[in-house]
Amino acid sequence: MWRQTKTALHKVLRLNDLLRLRALKSTSAPERALKLQPGQNIHGFTVKEVVAVPDLFLTAVKLTHDGTGAQYLHAARDDANNLFSVQLRTTPMDSSGVPHILEHTVLCGSQKFPVRDPFFKMLNRSLSTFMNAFTASDYTMYPFSTQNSKDFQNLLSVYLDAVFFPCLREQDFWQEGWRLENEDPTDPKSPLVFKGVVFNEMKGAFSDNERLYAQFLQNKMYPDHTYSVVSGGEPLCIPDLTWDQLKEFHARHYHPSNARFFTYGDLPLEQHLQQIQQEALCKFERIDPKTEVPPQPHWPRPREAHMSCGPDALAPDQTRQNTVCVSFLLPDITDTFEGFTLSLLSSLMVSGPNSPLYKALIEPKIGTDFSSVVGYDGSIREASFSVGLQGVSEQDLERVKRVIEETIDQIVLEGFEEERIEALLHKLEIQMKHQSTNFGLSLASYIASAWNHDGDPVALLQINHSVDRFKRALKDNPRYLQEKVQQYFKENTHRLTLSMSPDEEYLEKQAKAEEEKLQRKVQALTEDDRKQIYEKGLELLSAQAAPQDASCLPALRVSDIDPVTARTPVQISSVGGVPVQFCEQPTNGLVYFRALCNLNSLPEDLRPLVPLFCAVITKMGCGSMDYRQQAQQLELRTGGMSVSALVTPDSAHLDTYEQAVVLSSSCLDRNLPHMFDLWRDVFNSPHFTDEERLRVLVMMVAQELANGVSYSGHAYAMTRAARLLTPAGDLQETFGGMEQVKFMKRVAEKQDLNHVIRTLPRLKKHLFNPHNMRCAINATPQEMSNSSKHLETFLKEVSENRKDLKPVRPTTVQPIDPQLESGPTKTLIVDPQYQPCHMKTFFQMPFPVNFVSQSIRTVPFTHPDYASLRVLARMMSAKFLHSEIREKGGAYGGGARMGGGLFTFYSYRDPQALQTLSAFRRGVDWAKAGTFSQQDIDEAKLSVFSAVDAPVAPADKGMSLFVGGVSDDMSHAHRQRLFGVSHQDLVDVAHRYLSVGRCTDGAAILGPENDALRKDPSWIIK
Ligand SMILES: [Zn+2]
Repeated sequence: MWRQTKTALHKVLRLNDLLRLRALKSTSAPERALKLQPGQNIHGFTVKEVVAVPDLFLTAVKLTHDGTGAQYLHAARDDANNLFSVQLRTTPMDSSGVPHILEHTVLCGSQKFPVRDPFFKMLNRSLSTFMNAFTASDYTMYPFSTQNSKDFQNLLSVYLDAVFFPCLREQDFWQEGWRLENEDPTDPKSPLVFKGVVFNEMKGAFSDNERLYAQFLQNKMYPDHTYSVVSGGEPLCIPDLTWDQLKEFHARHYHPSNARFFTYGDLPLEQHLQQIQQEALCKFERIDPKTEVPPQPHWPRPREAHMSCGPDALAPDQTRQNTVCVSFLLPDITDTFEGFTLSLLSSLMVSGPNSPLYKALIEPKIGTDFSSVVGYDGSIREASFSVGLQGVSEQDLERVKRVIEETIDQIVLEGFEEERIEALLHKLEIQMKHQSTNFGLSLASYIASAWNHDGDPVALLQINHSVDRFKRALKDNPRYLQEKVQQYFKENTHRLTLSMSPDEEYLEKQAKAEEEKLQRKVQALTEDDRKQIYEKGLELLSAQAAPQDASCLPALRVSDIDPVTARTPVQISSVGGVPVQFCEQPTNGLVYFRALCNLNSLPEDLRPLVPLFCAVITKMGCGSMDYRQQAQQLELRTGGMSVSALVTPDSAHLDTYEQAVVLSSSCLDRNLPHMFDLWRDVFNSPHFTDEERLRVLVMMVAQELANGVSYSGHAYAMTRAARLLTPAGDLQETFGGMEQVKFMKRVAEKQDLNHVIRTLPRLKKHLFNPHNMRCAINATPQEMSNSSKHLETFLKEVSENRKDLKPVRPTTVQPIDPQLESGPTKTLIVDPQYQPCHMKTFFQMPFPVNFVSQSIRTVPFTHPDYASLRVLARMMSAKFLHSEIREKGGAYGGGARMGGGLFTFYSYRDPQALQTLSAFRRGVDWAKAGTFSQQDIDEAKLSVFSAVDAPVAPADKGMSLFVGGVSDDMSHAHRQRLFGVSHQDLVDVAHRYLSVGRCTDGAAILGPENDALRKDPSWIIK
């Protein structure tokens, strides 16, 4: 995977990921770690520093490895989801993608584990909660996490061997990087083309205009060293890389002297150190890797640059497709406090409708949304701040620059309202208290960049130190922030203005450039070279087809899986006539509130508007507050309030489903009354009439949807393929499929939104109806009765919205908890006459790659065959589809999954289209033939269980019952069935459901122009 530097709007809220806490009863791991002494030697490492970080409930231990100088940080915390990561500073000086291709090739086998794709294989031999590898601009990181200590050791062995002792065979380089090969490798007469996993992946990545823009911006802002090149690889530069260069890059960059190790969790540090020393570090001598990145020389005057991109067929307004943004160079990210201050400052400047740049740029609708790069970015050696717009017309480009300048002047003059700063600090407090399940991983990503440049990771963890210092600085100098704006934005001459415009011929030019590159390579070939290429192509093909012996890899066994289902006690009762589920959890002083309102009475023609309603309902103002005041209160009093559309297939019947909107919010205990007051105002007196405000929101939603298609194309293909297979599938497409993307594009293009404005109150009447509602509260036991009291008040205050409206379709009533037959109920839509239909749809898109999906209607969750189909999907993905679609087909990814009563195949960023559909069919034949082993089945089970037993955050406990109607008993029955799935079961379900003609299926492809599809009348072309 390649992770590009990209600034999110709420960059400060990156802290978000890192600051998630867990309330702890005992503190044994941090306490144990506190006993370590600086200077102490443990297995070849010397302890440098031991620091308690009480705010995060952890003890940080910093060490260095005596022999190689490798750096090490351990965060001891009573969290069973232990994490390991090793990060290497990788600083390429060309755009051949060498660090990215290396990241892929080290995973093609190592000395101790000479098997292809040990990560993919370990996914099936472990109970890992996370496994991956990332290439950033200046480092490459290999993290994993697991809750099982044996598994931790297994994975650590595999990771260490892959990173430090990879085979790096030439064949791996061809497969993962690039190669010339006959289009049909078995036909020496077929034309030679470029192939390779990274080559295709980057072609896909570069077809995403937002990513292209972010990449170009970074290259131009830091033109003097490693940031001027594309670490992921520029498609046309990738074919310049040689195998020898790859090996050299590994020797220098993947050396312990250039490595930073991070471990997290409740497992003992000593054991990690011993294993890392024995299996890797003791085999190395110290080197000087010379990978430091020098500071970027500052420009004496600002610069401007321009670039082209492909036109976006889905963009809301074809005449407004330009992007422009201004970037400012900021200080070194190793200055922890300055970075903290600037990320807060950035939020104040651009986040939310109360920020001056939002007011100045978004509200006048000069563009559709902020540019893809916006706010503070501290992911590389020197930080930057960017602000600009996308969806701008050509005439307005100058205006955008002028407005940015004027707004900065105005900020220097006026500063920020005190309440906004307060709201931001409140947000930080919530983020520090909110607990996630992947705290270790968040921590690893949070410290990665600064640590990579020898910043102090421990100082970064001490966030409260920064908060205190920030408050003091503001108190000592009321103009503190204004002075920063003056210094970094007003007077800063290292500033780049980058504009991007669509070029109708862009794709053509790209294709032409690739063709020229190809021809240059091809023309230089001798007859002998061609012969070799053909032979190597055949070799690769047979290597890919050869059976793989993975037995050298360590593995857990099915018997290592916990036979018991973890249970979550909840209490379901009725408050003011509304069913409420209470779930006591160690939420660390936060209360989580959800409400689910069915939309059974909603007229069908209004359904496509539900997602839009959800997107705007908490953002238009309510009660006595305009939308700005509402946004302010939301930040001051809550951890966010949102509404989203939801379709849930019933767990027992394929033609029954629940359709609803889900309200979701959280707050600190002390703000409970405020949170419910806000919801009350949203229910009782939302503002709908501000057309200007609505237009801003509509454009942002439409733009976001259009931008997301190239990234999530597989999800859109899957949703579309399933559209006519179940009634729920049809509604999914309406709410979140290509239908919705196109619908929002049409809405955004409307001159007059009055029709929408008139419709929103109608939607509200049907959607926010306490008669159709149920609620859930997750809070600490101490806070439960208080929560219940405030919820009751809220329900009383919104009771005027209660109406007994007639459902527009037949319904059925079910208990919320299937075990409580006489308990509170919910109402589902039922359609016993439903007839599934076969349909194949092709969406022609301006992408160079395809997203392919086929979906088959099978059985619901409680059916005895569901477990077999789930294991089969996993096994088929790992043992057949991965090799067909990724290794042979050249796609970035692909597989099969079982969910919602559907068995669904998919591929991601795939150079093939129809061939992939045939690979899906061959997958079914493979399953029916039953040539897989017991080991294959066990591996698939392990992989399924690592999903089933993935940790659940306190905020989300009980949600599978509340939302999905799946009780602990049902989960347990499913668990038993998963354990029991046999070889015969798998063959049987493949015959019974997946054979051609047995069950109704659908298919969808998103991809570039395709003659074969166009000529095939069985495909509907969109
Ligand atoms: Zn990749």
